[in-house]
Amino acid sequence: MGRPKLVRTEKLCPRCRQTLPLDAFYARPNGGPDCYCRPCRKDYQRRLAARKAGHRRHVRINARGDVWCNHCQRYLPTCSFRRHPSRPHTWWAYCVDCTRELDRLRWRGERRARHNAESPNRRRRRRASERSERRAFVAGAILTLRRRGLTKTDVSRLTGVSLGSILAAEQGGGRWGPTPHTAARFVVALRATAHLPTGAEPAYRRRLPLPGLAELVARVRPLMDAYPVRSRWRGRDAEEGTGHPLGAVPDVSEAFAKRQKEEEGTP
Ligand SMILES: [Zn+2]
Ligand SMILES: [Zn+2]
Repeated sequence: MGRPKLVRTEKLCPRCRQTLPLDAFYARPNGGPDCYCRPCRKDYQRRLAARKAGHRRHVRINARGDVWCNHCQRYLPTCSFRRHPSRPHTWWAYCVDCTRELDRLRWRGERRARHNAESPNRRRRRRASERSERRAFVAGAILTLRRRGLTKTDVSRLTGVSLGSILAAEQGGGRWGPTPHTAARFVVALRATAHLPTGAEPAYRRRLPLPGLAELVARVRPLMDAYPVRSRWRGRDAEEGTGHPLGAVPDVSEAFAKRQKEEEGTP
């Protein structure tokens, strides 16, 4: 004995989301119910017909012998078209200008998609590695500047980078990472001090600033200003016009020379 046969008596219309008895649906040639219910089917056919009526198909080549470009929607002389490469008796679907424009848009879309495809994780890793490269560069630059006779305070004055950041860069590790602009300031500082002799030992705790530092700072100031850094000192700088959190750089060249002489004089 077989199972009792289930007879379908109603059906869901996916268009109006109603469950209706089978006689609310047209019958298909195979006897099954139509997909949509009768009102929905009528509405669907009416809209389809309206859409087709609005769409006028253009003959490809008109009475004058001009060819229809389906992108700029007009007839153009045949010289505006290329032949289809594999069908030599037909013209390319779009005129030369439209083809170029469409190719350009497609190329841009592909490049954009590739650009967007870089995953957030990969982007984060790339940024982290760039930051650690900058940190290594700045730490090396500070050491070079100190071997050229600048103390950390001098380096801070020259670059406009806070002493705290310079100490953080020297210590390495930690969360501090220089911005591209900060790194660029150290490039400027290295170039500006290239003429100074490089000693074996870095300068350490000299009381007086390097002679000529004031001129040097003034000279590189416009170069440094090209790389603005975010600093909580900025407001104060603007008010006092000192250009540095530690205040204006005093010109102590004479005092420095005098002291050097004294030190040389004492055995
Ligand atoms: Zn329906
Ligand atoms: Zn065209």
